[in-house]
Amino acid sequence: MVLGVIGHPVSHSLSPVMHSAAAKSLGLDLTYDTYDVPPDELEDLMDRFRNGDMDGLNVTVPHKVAVMEYMNELMDNAEKVGAVNTICRKGDKLIGANTDVYGFITSVEKNAGEIAARGRILVYGAGGAARAVCHAFADRNVERLLIANRTRHKAEALADSLTGVGCAIDVLDYESNNLVDSVRSADIIVNTTSVGMESVSEKFLPGSENIHQGQLVVDIVYRPLETPLLRQAKRAGAMTLDGLWMLIHQGARSFTLWTGAEFPVELARVSLLKALNED
Ligand code: NAP
Repeated sequence: MVLGVIGHPVSHSLSPVMHSAAAKSLGLDLTYDTYDVPPDELEDLMDRFRNGDMDGLNVTVPHKVAVMEYMNELMDNAEKVGAVNTICRKGDKLIGANTDVYGFITSVEKNAGEIAARGRILVYGAGGAARAVCHAFADRNVERLLIANRTRHKAEALADSLTGVGCAIDVLDYESNNLVDSVRSADIIVNTTSVGMESVSEKFLPGSENIHQGQLVVDIVYRPLETPLLRQAKRAGAMTLDGLWMLIHQGARSFTLWTGAEFPVELARVSLLKALNED
């Protein structure tokens, strides 16, 4: 099989590391490469894919929404989230899936199942990843979802898109006393913004100094693996979960959709940690 990930830029992607390690350990004959595809070359790439040059693809920034128009079918939350991160090819038909929802909720449930069942969730951010995270929680019928984003109208648009999901949804001002109160009273706090990434100057989220013991704090950023938010949360005695787990579980679901094989999760984590250390 010829598999890979398309994005622009994409050379930093860790997906080849885990998919290649998984295929090797299972004795599967497949390659997994990166394809740097500027937006004006997306159509050509999709034509090549449909004509058999590749068998399956992951999709990353900036193509997760743009690829949707080339899909013959959508599955696995793609329609609900409005984004595709995995494409399977059956003959000349392309089937788009969103495995980020599965990846996120599986990472939380496998590592912190007892906390995942609780009710009050604070999500920082309103980009593509936030959409998947909010849908994942909404599917679990949590009690209340609070969304805080630097650009408020994007949080409002995300909240609107979740109308009817069965849990209460509130938008919070990014720098406000309400946000501080919500940090204190949340059961789970999730950062889906780029804050804390090595390449971003902001390192701290407003209100995060109020994190305390008994909470679960998840950062989906994984470069660095221990973000300033996770370090802060650990110091406060909260339980923490790093973003590599979401990456692994979304990849696991993609791998199974393409190959039918079960993904070796622990081996993937070891290979990713090694790659991050060598960076
Ligand atoms: P996106 O759609 O571009 O959204 C970026 C989000 O970050 C927006 O909410 C944006 O706020 C916020 N943001 C960016 N810079 C900020 C700053 N300096 N201060 C405050 N907020 C800021 O990106 P995405 O696809 O959602 O990805 C977001 C992060 O999640 C990235 O770090 C990505 O690597 C990570 N991620 C991880 C996984 C995983 O598997 N672990 C999966 C997907 C994404 P505004 O709306 O105000 O611009």
